Formats: sequence, C-alpha cells, structure tokens
Amino acid sequence: MRQRFAPSPTGLLHIGHAFSAATAWRAAQAADGEFLLRIEDIDQPRCKPEFEQAIFEDLHWLGLSWPTPVMRQSERMAVYEQALDRLAAMGLCYPCRCTRKDISAALSAPQEGHEPAVGPDGLVYPGTCENRPMSEKTDTDAVRLSMRRAIDFLGGAAEVARLSYSETGSGETVQIDLSAEALIEGCGDIVLARKDIGTSYHLAVVVDDAAQEITHVTRGMDVAPATQIHRLLQALLDLPVPVYHHHRLIRDEVGKRLAKRDDARSIRSYREAGLSPAEVLALVGL
Ligand code: GLU
Repeated sequence: MRQRFAPSPTGLLHIGHAFSAATAWRAAQAADGEFLLRIEDIDQPRCKPEFEQAIFEDLHWLGLSWPTPVMRQSERMAVYEQALDRLAAMGLCYPCRCTRKDISAALSAPQEGHEPAVGPDGLVYPGTCENRPMSEKTDTDAVRLSMRRAIDFLGGAAEVARLSYSETGSGETVQIDLSAEALIEGCGDIVLARKDIGTSYHLAVVVDDAAQEITHVTRGMDVAPATQIHRLLQALLDLPVPVYHHHRLIRDEVGKRLAKRDDARSIRSYREAGLSPAEVLALVGL
C-alpha cells in the first residue's frame, strides 16, 4: 500500500489536515506500506515557502515521516503539459476565454429556464467556447476538456458506465460507477489548464498519483465529487486507479468546515498552547 497526503502550502495546516494526514499515515503503517508527502503548489502566487516549511514541521511534530525529497508540483509543469498535449492530440480539448463573469452571465440568460447546475468546480460551463479549435489558443485562454468528446472517445455512455472506482470511506468497500450523464450535466467541460498556471488540480493530481504509484488515496469528503473526473482522466490517460477513501470533514462548533485562514485551529496554535501531538489527534477523534 502507498498512501499520500497532498497539501497546498497556502496557509497553516489545521486539525482537519492533521486528521487526514494521520489517517493516511496510520493506514500505511497498519498495512506495512508507505506514506508519501506531496506539495501541491501549482497555484504559485497563493503558495508561500514558510507555509511549506510549516507543513514539514507540523507533520513531523505529529509523529509522521515520509521519504525525501518530496514531490513538488511546481517542479512538474512539463509533465502536466505532456498530459495536456496528449488529451489535446486525442481531440478532446478546446481553448476557453470565458471569465467567471461571462459564465454566470451566459447561465443567467432567461431562455435557460432552469437553475444552473453546480459541479465540483462551481457553475457547470455552458459550452460557449466549445467549437474553438486548439490552434486558436492564446496565452489568455484556459483549456477545457470536452466531456462529450471524452465520453465518445471512450466508446460512449455504456462504456463509461463500466468505469468505476472503489470507495472505502464508509468503512466498507463500495464500487462507484461513472455515469456519462452525471459527468456531462453535473461536471461539464472542466478546466484542464488554467490560463495563469497552465494546469489544474484535476490534471496534476491524477498524473502525480500515478507517478508516485499511489495505491490508496485518503482525503476529505469535499473532494469526493471530483473523483468521477479523476477516474475519467485515468481512463483517458491509461493510468492506474487507486482505491479512494473520502473521510468525514472536521468542523468547528457551529458545524462550519475548517479553512486555512482559521489560524485558531491550526496544528501550530494548539502546539503553542501546550497540547501534545496525542492531544491534538484526540481533538479529531484519533
Ligand atoms: N491539494 C489538495 C487539497 O489540499 C489535495 C486534494 C487531494 O488530496 O486530492 O485539498
């Protein structure tokens, strides 16, 4: 078994991250497997070296260890570009110049007549740029995956329905099947490469889980809806499919999900307040 924890250094880790990392680490220990750390820093302007340093320190303090050097996504842009080129060569991509504002304006047009769908990345893209060829792409364009073309490439809806992944989040192993309809209606043409960073979370995470030979992905339930996209990309790029474990989210006392800006619940502040690693893990039920 190979597990990983893949934080973005955009803030201090909070106790929800402690739960996620320790859950993955313990599963790896129990199976005599490996635990890897990966720094997901594709969004360079939001990432800071001091937060990366804090990730190392806080996780070590919790008692976790991992092989070094760690994989850093900012050093792998050429690999993501290759994966993108491959999808583009398969005819599945198009350049998109729409801003968030353009997208919500297109979706609020009265003729739509129904509530716009919201997917893992927000509003489902209305397809405005769908017919633009990749040859037209400029530096100010993002690149989107045409969900319909991707499904056709894989042999159509019936073939896509045969694709599945294992989910162990409930304590039992459940097979989750993909659905072409859910992908088209509920995810839509997702961004594979943002115009500013040249890749996206979805593309990078799938490429890197394969590159690191991750067999088991442990992460929060908030990312569970994106897993159908990841499974589809694995099928398109011939990548192995890990087992997924989406765990409960750690919430504050009013039931709100913890955010990185919530410094009061950072591992560091509990540590500075004198709690032991075991006491911090006990706060999240471990
Ligand atoms: N960098 C992502 C995050 O911090 C990782 C999600 C994942 O584990 O796939 O949410």
